[in-house]
Amino acid sequence: MSVAGKDRPVLYLCAPINALVEGIYEQKIPFTEIKKHGDFGLGTFDQLDGEMVMLDGKIYQITSDGHVAQMDDSALTPFACVTFYRPAAHDEINTPLNYAEFNKWIQNLLPSPNIFYAIRIDGVFSYVRVRSVPKQESYKPLVEVAKEQPVFTFENIKGTLVGFYTPTFMGSVSVPGLHLHFLSSDLQHGGHLLECQTNEIKAGIQFISSLELGLPMNLDYLTWGFQRNVGDDLDKAEK
Ligand SMILES: [Zn+2]
Repeated sequence: MSVAGKDRPVLYLCAPINALVEGIYEQKIPFTEIKKHGDFGLGTFDQLDGEMVMLDGKIYQITSDGHVAQMDDSALTPFACVTFYRPAAHDEINTPLNYAEFNKWIQNLLPSPNIFYAIRIDGVFSYVRVRSVPKQESYKPLVEVAKEQPVFTFENIKGTLVGFYTPTFMGSVSVPGLHLHFLSSDLQHGGHLLECQTNEIKAGIQFISSLELGLPMNLDYLTWGFQRNVGDDLDKAEK
């Protein structure tokens, strides 16, 4: 359980996104630790081995070949962003939306751009484009990895988007703006969302006004020089 407990929503990050963007892909943080801070979220696995979705306390790995596997709590991660998901607001829309309209619809559900939100969207998507990062040795910057990322597209697929909105000024800590991962309802497909078009969807939104940030106590992280402005890299790697 996070410091503030389950009653007050807290966003937990086990490491700043900067470390991942720089190519520190191994932190050996077990999900037993991550799950003390949330039952809902996203991230990746050590060696950048695919995309992670945490939904209802279950951990799913989407590998770069598109395969989905449920992982146990002994799996290790260098970056995970989680919370105990307790939505405060709900909305739904049965009119098809293209990606620009979808983004606008979500933004309209967020009363201020200056706090965090956990966002869960369930429904039928007429189109989904996702990527999943391939397993890496450390120190290859994320933007380089993203150039060769496998991309998958799906049509008329039922599933869930899991993720967060982060204020843009927090870009060294978490992916700024919307960051969503997709998992199909049949648990066969998923990945980091690049684009979607919706058919019928419903959204749950949790307002989060506290942040708990883990700083990894390992040699890679402790001795890294974070002089580079990684904002451009992050934008290319995550959008
Ligand atoms: Zn992602």
